[in-house]
Amino acid sequence: MTETTKQQRLQRWIRPEIRALSTYHVADAKGMVKLDAMENPYGWPPGLVEQWLQVLRAAELNRYPDPEARALVTALREVHQIPAQSAVMLGNGSDELIQLIMLAVAAPGRVVLSAEPGFSMYQMIACFVGLDYVGVPLSAQDFSLDLPAMLAAIERHQPAVIFLAYPNNPTGNLFDDAAIEEIIRAAPGLVVVDEAYHAFADATMMGRLADYDNLLVLRTLSKMGLAGLRLGLLAADACWVDEINKIRLPYNINSLTQISARFAMQHAALLGEQTDRISRDREDLCTQLQQIAGLTVYPSRANFILFRVPGGRATELYELLKQDGVLIRNLHKDGSALADCLRVTVGTVDENNAFLAALHKAM
Ligand code: PMP
Repeated sequence: MTETTKQQRLQRWIRPEIRALSTYHVADAKGMVKLDAMENPYGWPPGLVEQWLQVLRAAELNRYPDPEARALVTALREVHQIPAQSAVMLGNGSDELIQLIMLAVAAPGRVVLSAEPGFSMYQMIACFVGLDYVGVPLSAQDFSLDLPAMLAAIERHQPAVIFLAYPNNPTGNLFDDAAIEEIIRAAPGLVVVDEAYHAFADATMMGRLADYDNLLVLRTLSKMGLAGLRLGLLAADACWVDEINKIRLPYNINSLTQISARFAMQHAALLGEQTDRISRDREDLCTQLQQIAGLTVYPSRANFILFRVPGGRATELYELLKQDGVLIRNLHKDGSALADCLRVTVGTVDENNAFLAALHKAM
């Protein structure tokens, strides 16, 4: 096949919107202070690792895993205090659940709506599955929900599904719960409250599931300290979960994840201590960032902090930090709501200090 026919075939069959995308880029963090991906920096004590390895020994890798991961669901229900009347389904990360929710509603001309700046995968996955995406700007001042704008967009676009991250990524703030409830009441379709950062927020909509049949709550174990396992959960009225579950691929949660996450849920108190510690360290880091002249630091209820640097310097500072061995996230885009913005994940005290020292030096 010539290069031209190969290209023609590609142009003919790969949708233009997919060709226009770039692959999800993850920066190489080898040997760096890694504060770019909202991971929990703490591991487990050696004794606990030993116990975990003992449990893993029982894994039967020649057998398929439990397709419904029933024992794990039971453990998650307890730890995440999921209301008894709500149904639960699990995903290979909450990313997979976002994809499954969208796949279940996808049809030409239908709309997914979210608030911006928000979690980039909402727009990406909408594109993957052929849904139209509408992003409603958050208030420029403090990244709070612009309720009149949201309600107007709901009225106009009649979205099949609305995604709201609570707290929001990448801004870190917690949207007003009364505003979220107004959105749920106004929405013609589903409203997904994505609680990826709930462990750091001291706030949740889980308790409101009984009040709204169109509310879905998403959680992930990634930010709690189990990013390597890839496990997310969706809690909602059974009528939605039963439908979405039909398009989940069989055995999406592998045996090692099921066993390891069950074990981790038996030690949820340890993860809770770690996430509480991260929340406290976030406040210290925030105070220290506020003392650096020229920075605008946005209040966070998550395990990361968004901050704005003096005009035009975001990429330069990001690169200088990288040269100093500290990897954070550069969110700068000319003219966008995140122009001149960087995002740092809260790490250990030593990591936070290394970041602050590198930032002082770079500034
Ligand atoms: N939702 C939000 C708001 C996130 O920030 C992330 C991760 N960055 C996810 C969902 C996905 O998490 P995971 O797939 O690791 O569960």
